[in-house]
Amino acid sequence: MKTIGLIGGMSWESTAAYYQLINEEVKHRLGGLHSAKCLLYSVDFAEIERYQAEERWDQAGMYLGDVAHSLEKAGADFIVICTNTMHKVIACMEERINIPILHIADATATQIQKTSIRTVGLLGTRYTMEQDFYKSRLVSNGLTVLVPDQSEREMVHKVIFEELCAGSIQPSSRDFYKQVIQNLVDHGAEGIILGCTEIGLLIKQEDSDVPLFDTTVIHAMESVNQAFE
Ligand code: GLU
Repeated sequence: MKTIGLIGGMSWESTAAYYQLINEEVKHRLGGLHSAKCLLYSVDFAEIERYQAEERWDQAGMYLGDVAHSLEKAGADFIVICTNTMHKVIACMEERINIPILHIADATATQIQKTSIRTVGLLGTRYTMEQDFYKSRLVSNGLTVLVPDQSEREMVHKVIFEELCAGSIQPSSRDFYKQVIQNLVDHGAEGIILGCTEIGLLIKQEDSDVPLFDTTVIHAMESVNQAFE
């Protein structure tokens, strides 16, 4: 079994889910007292959020690249960035290490390609929904991507940072997300990507009539696959 290098803390609420999912899957596959070999470097999310808000992406990339490098030195065989948004700086991180990074959007697209779904709605931070770094990865994997309208995007983003990353799960926000999902379905989405690692804490499959693709679950499962390759 390879050693997984997790970069977490963005936020720790979802990193906890990664850690649990990965260990449960290894136990499921190997049984007994088996658990995952992994290293976790959990950053201070307040620092990362400041880089994002101030558009200091280069500095964020150098910082997370150094984190990845320290995981490599500590023995990680590959890197898992436990957030969709910070894949924006993956190129800068890759320059600083000699081990691969398992891209969350590629893992998600591969999972969707196993179904007949080709048009997906994307929920995430405004960076993920509005910028090209994430959507282009899905499009190059043969998917058509729909995002909520401007006012919905603002509210989806606000709920992520002001509630989900702070550990607050509000039924009213769940109702709002359900409406946003329905609007995407009305515009042709055949499935919905939960493209922020905290959304799965709020929205479950029973909240949607179309299949949900939870990037946290998909990324965690793919990291176990990778660990056994
Ligand atoms: N965890 C979130 C994501 O998957 C948002 C936090 C962040 O901005 O990194 O994008």
